[in-house]
Amino acid sequence: MASKEYRCARCHTKFAPKEDEERCPSCGAEAGLEPVKDGLPPAMKLFGVLIGGAFVATVAGIVLAVAG
Ligand SMILES: [Zn+2]
Repeated sequence: MASKEYRCARCHTKFAPKEDEERCPSCGAEAGLEPVKDGLPPAMKLFGVLIGGAFVATVAGIVLAVAG
């Protein structure tokens, strides 16, 4: 799976911190580290949910039509 990543607010370096040490490897900043969200942005995720829901509804409709 994707590892936890941070982006340094000072120098904008993206890095994956070691377990006990969360600091920027570039400038050494320990504060202002922003967690980087992996995967799709929320809007795209919502879109995917809508598409998935529509797909499930379509399949369910077909199954009901065939069964009925
Ligand atoms: Zn930095």
